[in-house]
Amino acid sequence: MAKCSICGGPAVAYIRYQRRYLCDRHFVEYVESKIRRAISRYKMIRQGYRVLVPVSGGKDSATVLTALSKLSREFGFEVVALHIDLGIGDYSVKSKEASIKAANKLGVPLIVVSVKEITGYTIPELARKARRPVCSVCGLVKRYIINLVAVELGADAVALGHNADDLAVYSMKSFITQDLSNISKLGPKTESIKGLAVGRIRPLYEVYEKESYLYALLTETPFLHEECPNVDFSSMENRLKVHINSLEEEKPGVKITMLRNMAKRIRDYPKPQLPISRCRHCGLLSSGDECSFCRLTKRITGQPLGPRAREVVRSLVASLQLAPRQDSAYKS
Ligand SMILES: [Zn+2]
Ligand SMILES: [Zn+2]
Repeated sequence: MAKCSICGGPAVAYIRYQRRYLCDRHFVEYVESKIRRAISRYKMIRQGYRVLVPVSGGKDSATVLTALSKLSREFGFEVVALHIDLGIGDYSVKSKEASIKAANKLGVPLIVVSVKEITGYTIPELARKARRPVCSVCGLVKRYIINLVAVELGADAVALGHNADDLAVYSMKSFITQDLSNISKLGPKTESIKGLAVGRIRPLYEVYEKESYLYALLTETPFLHEECPNVDFSSMENRLKVHINSLEEEKPGVKITMLRNMAKRIRDYPKPQLPISRCRHCGLLSSGDECSFCRLTKRITGQPLGPRAREVVRSLVASLQLAPRQDSAYKS
């Protein structure tokens, strides 16, 4: 049996690009040190920050939640978790259970927002009514609710669970389709826009998918092993993943090298040209006078539901009874 290169104990993982074996304790420390380094290197979090962690119930957000709740003491920031109940049958029921268990285990305050409670419909129902693909409606609604909760919380950053494998694939896809302005949004962090949108950070920027999975297992963070039933394995993303993984097999570390170099040059990529304005219904970030969530819900229900979503979220945030944040730069 292979032995840990640090302590000689039984190894649970082989880190190919570093050519060393690690035991369970040293593996957990290794992942946390990568996250700690990424937070410092890319200036993701400052002391006194309130960081919102959206948890889907999957391994990556479980890893972000566990690691950030541990590092929050060391760096002096606050963590709040958010779970969005999408109403995708049994998958959503189990995802919600896993998210609640994880937040309780870590003692992190959790907000649960139900799409059905806000709009009257589940995600599959909304997609059917809008005659749009489920994943596109789901992405739109999730992005809206995450930003809304972050703004209402006075959060300074939203910590997303994208790992190095995801980001290598998204970047390559953007390169192949020459959607270069999308690459500028895939860096380790994006900036906030006062009162309208809270910036995103990616603590797993240099953490591989396999490492994120093993970290969630070894730290015994509850998570759901199954994927969303709507995942399309024939998509461009999933095909690219196979190819980039075989490149990584031959050249261990190639994904991390690519991402680090991208992060250095992120300012050289064109920025999205959309005008920044405020939705006339809900007051949040929009590229015209109406945000995409208000436009979608108005088409389906006859009413833009952003204002209702804000009301629901405001009362959920109030029920957490967190300390008020006078100094937050992002309150409207
Ligand atoms: Zn060890
Ligand atoms: Zn709106």
